[in-house]
Amino acid sequence: MAVMNRCYDLHTHSTASDGTLTPAELVRHAADCGVDVLAITDHDSVEGIAEAQQAGRAFGVEVVAGIELSITWMGQVIHVVGLSIDPAAPELLAGLDRLCEFRAWRAEEMGRRLAQAGYAGCFEGAKALSNGRLISRTHFARHLVQRGAASDVRDVFKRFLVRGKPGHVPGRWAEPAEGLGWLRGAGGRPVLAHPARYNLTRSKLRRLVAELMEAGCEGIEVVSGSHSRDECLTIGRLAHETGLLASSGSDYHGPENPWVELGKCPPLPAGLTPVWHDWSPRAEWPGPLVSVRS
Ligand code: AMP
Ligand code: MN
Ligand code: MN
Ligand code: MN
Repeated sequence: MAVMNRCYDLHTHSTASDGTLTPAELVRHAADCGVDVLAITDHDSVEGIAEAQQAGRAFGVEVVAGIELSITWMGQVIHVVGLSIDPAAPELLAGLDRLCEFRAWRAEEMGRRLAQAGYAGCFEGAKALSNGRLISRTHFARHLVQRGAASDVRDVFKRFLVRGKPGHVPGRWAEPAEGLGWLRGAGGRPVLAHPARYNLTRSKLRRLVAELMEAGCEGIEVVSGSHSRDECLTIGRLAHETGLLASSGSDYHGPENPWVELGKCPPLPAGLTPVWHDWSPRAEWPGPLVSVRS
């Protein structure tokens, strides 16, 4: 196998959180798209990993056990992807239970606030779209589009679900050191997700990166389905300066967003060390891609 030219997509979602393909469908689609190594990184959930890994064996895709953890930093939400986690690590699972309890309460509170704004039944609508798994703002957005309250998901976020809008409920996610501790305790490698999406000034982004590195962050998404070419280059320089490993992931949520496809992100800018630099193809299935804590 040409190890150097393998296609990596290290940030994707399934129906275990707010994606629309089941874990098995996601992996089959990854195989069709020519992805060799796929990380499944659902929001605050490890529930899709086992099914994805089983599908990986069937379709010839190496599936990295991952997660996208919600973190509160200076009053705003940031996302950290954990790659190659042990999905059974007790401390991680206890932390996720806490976040998902908050999610369940938040979903009901969002329902109450949206009802006050004239949109009754949103909690029930979002829940019906969540397959019995965690409820995300994306499920509310899809429900509001379906009932004609907005033209598309982006429009719903802008009008209802972001800070200052009627359905917004401030997050109470993991503290940075705590969340990265859960990931590292599970043998995972923390990677700051889509850093250009937080509307941070240069100096504040540097401060975030410094604090996360202090807590054990190893990588940063330089290439993301949500980064422009310029943003890739800017974040690439940041990776170079800080010594963080560079990651690449589409942030795929399903075929409804045709502008994001699996495995089609541009290559990493030259001169960076990829987060997969020391990964070798699995000799044997199943097995961890990177050795996990014993
Ligand atoms: P939650 O973790 O439940 O607060 O939901 C966060 C998710 O909502 C993100 O992972 C995105 O998938 C989606 N999202 C956030 N902001 C937007 C936006 N402006 N437009 C579309 N989707 C968004
Ligand atoms: Mn999402
Ligand atoms: Mn994210
Ligand atoms: Mn994501």
